[in-house]
Amino acid sequence: MASPVFFSDMRTEQGKNLIDKVRRLWQHAGFEKIIAPEDLVAVKLHFGEKGNLAYLNPVLVREIVERIKAKQGKPFLTDTNTLYVGSRSDAVSHLETAITNGFAYAVVSAPLIIADGLRGKDYQTVEVNLPRFKEVKIGSAIYFADALVCLSHFKGHELTGFGGTLKNLGMGCGAPSGKQMMHADVLPEVKEEKCLGCGKCQRWCPAGAITIADKKARIDAAKCIGCGECTVTCTSRAIKPSFKTEPEVLQEKIVEYACGALKGKEGKVAFFNFVMNVSPECDCNSWNDAALVGDVGILASYDPVALDQASLDLVNAQPPLPGTRLDGRSGAADKFLAVSGYDGSHQLKYAEEIGLGSRKYELIKV
Ligand code: SF4
Ligand code: SF4
Repeated sequence: MASPVFFSDMRTEQGKNLIDKVRRLWQHAGFEKIIAPEDLVAVKLHFGEKGNLAYLNPVLVREIVERIKAKQGKPFLTDTNTLYVGSRSDAVSHLETAITNGFAYAVVSAPLIIADGLRGKDYQTVEVNLPRFKEVKIGSAIYFADALVCLSHFKGHELTGFGGTLKNLGMGCGAPSGKQMMHADVLPEVKEEKCLGCGKCQRWCPAGAITIADKKARIDAAKCIGCGECTVTCTSRAIKPSFKTEPEVLQEKIVEYACGALKGKEGKVAFFNFVMNVSPECDCNSWNDAALVGDVGILASYDPVALDQASLDLVNAQPPLPGTRLDGRSGAADKFLAVSGYDGSHQLKYAEEIGLGSRKYELIKV
């Protein structure tokens, strides 16, 4: 059965600006029914890396906050810390970056909570029993929220072709050690020249796989379960994050994490995709290259798979913009595949296969 996807294009006029359009999408989709009085509502988004300018507009986010407050819900804006070293890899830097990027209370009218805590260790293990993972690690503030409104910037991605709701949910709700498990199939290695022998990794290793000898950490590969805790614990970066996995495997792992993020929230979730500033790579970069196509609009749905499928189809129906990475590739059927080399549609197929949603949709213009 086709899932409804509500869509507003970018055309505006008196009484119908983009903020009005966000409100109308919320109302047409009937999202108010997912909020009960006193609900703690996680508004999951990406605050943008420092230097990136393609992330969601905080003023549009505020309109969602106002809708939640109108139902006496208690919204908070949230994201998890990153695996790589950047401006969002611990809660202090993350909050500073978010505020620098415009997500101050004065603008968004809601507090910010980093879902997995100061150093990404505050997560809950959620049983999913899926082919890639039996359990996943979801940031506590998202796990314990009563409802979830997921706001995603739909754009290209250097490893998954494109990133939308599934990516925002899966990679975006996972704690850094979970992100490591999604990103790599290889076991961690210690770079001895960087190791200080401090023993922090040993204390956090749940498998007892690490010993310290001659002031250097050693990993016993036979005991290591690849949980990624040592990688995110070592502040000397002696155990570096790894990004070695097959592209399709990565997409399947992200989808399974998305299932974990939604578990227990049936009837309490809503999704928006903002198909604007369609940059070729992730908002995790401290820059954003020229948008591949013109701004398309805003989409809303209860079905994360239908929402991403509709967003992908709309982008691929646009003419390519000149002076972008699509130069010389103007005939490409899948623009994200053309610029990244990765077919992101695998995440949609896999998500449908495991019952997360439907790739069939009915686009309803609002
Ligand atoms: S946490 Fe890092 S520096 Fe400390 S012992 Fe482990 S690998 Fe070495
Ligand atoms: S990946 Fe996990 S199990 Fe393996 S050494 Fe690191 S902390 Fe221990």
